[in-house]
Amino acid sequence: MKIAALLLALILISCNANKTIQNPVQIDDIATPIASKPKTAKNIIFLIGDGMGIGQITAGTYSNGNTSHLERFPVIGLHKPYSGNELITDSAAAATSFACGFKTYNGAIGVDLDTLPIETILEEAEMKGLKTGLVATSTIVHATPASYIAHNKSRKNYEEIATDFLKTEIDFFIGGGKKFFDRREDERDLVAELEAKGYTMGNYLTDLSEFRSANSSATKIGYLTSDADPLPAAQGRDYLTDAAMYGIDFLDNSADNGFFIMIEGSQIDWGGHANNSDYIVTEFLDFNETIGRVLDWAEKDGETLVVVTADHETGGYTIQPGSTQDTLVTAFTTTKHSGDFINVFSYGPGSERFGGIFNNTDIYYKMREAYGWEKKRMVLE
Ligand code: MG
Ligand code: ZN
Repeated sequence: MKIAALLLALILISCNANKTIQNPVQIDDIATPIASKPKTAKNIIFLIGDGMGIGQITAGTYSNGNTSHLERFPVIGLHKPYSGNELITDSAAAATSFACGFKTYNGAIGVDLDTLPIETILEEAEMKGLKTGLVATSTIVHATPASYIAHNKSRKNYEEIATDFLKTEIDFFIGGGKKFFDRREDERDLVAELEAKGYTMGNYLTDLSEFRSANSSATKIGYLTSDADPLPAAQGRDYLTDAAMYGIDFLDNSADNGFFIMIEGSQIDWGGHANNSDYIVTEFLDFNETIGRVLDWAEKDGETLVVVTADHETGGYTIQPGSTQDTLVTAFTTTKHSGDFINVFSYGPGSERFGGIFNNTDIYYKMREAYGWEKKRMVLE
């Protein structure tokens, strides 16, 4: 018996020795093989504060009693916002980087440097059976939302961009720009065409909450908040949080396979272009309220990755000497965009991918990984 036991022990030792040589195994790997692997997310909520650099975040935070919902995010990174043809990006090239994963020229909407259309993460999500949505406080055909759904060589071709809404299966969109849908040079009525395609369409003539309760069985939603640009928050625009939560609830209720929604605080950028600190701060606070409600929702849901960032900074906006938290002295270095790196805040499954310094295009790839999708890049026909 003793000899048999000794032989068995020798065999076990030699097996282990062989195994160790072929495939070194760390104790930590054995203890936490699953917990240490980045998680996947069922849903992604992507919030873009257009023009929201660190100066805008700082001023908005101090103006809000030294707090913001961005402080609730456990993972913070920085992205490099330069575009494919200029160090200083515009919103179209930047949004195309987030939506498609490559750098392109300023003004490009969902097309590469050769103006070839590239499938966006929203379009791919639709193809994969996820529900999709866009919410903005600019027109819905403006550069940032447009880059998720349209393919155009120029951001200025608003009427052409509007026709691209008919080429997708997007489930939910809210933003301004009704005139680009129903008062067009080609005299098409895209609102009627969208209705014929199965959308329940609404506009600012009906209060958003009334529209929502009157259309609880709708399968696809489009709601246009203004004829041209929506008003600034300081002049009474107040739909962003309601529209965002409407979209999230609507998509989540029908999303067996998850959803993707991009929500934009569009006008922080416009405050920067106007070199108007109050405009920046009021738009930041509006966006901050939306971020808070989205985070509350995601904390309960547990399957949703939330990412907040900006496309670029606008205004070269800084807090000056002589400031107090209550009385900020601010200054601008430009009425255009600046080239500063941009903060990325993330929460939820997969958020650990968003720490560190990376390119704006990496946000696309990190989101794909968070969904658990295969890596790929597809040129559309
Ligand atoms: Mg924008
Ligand atoms: Zn801008």
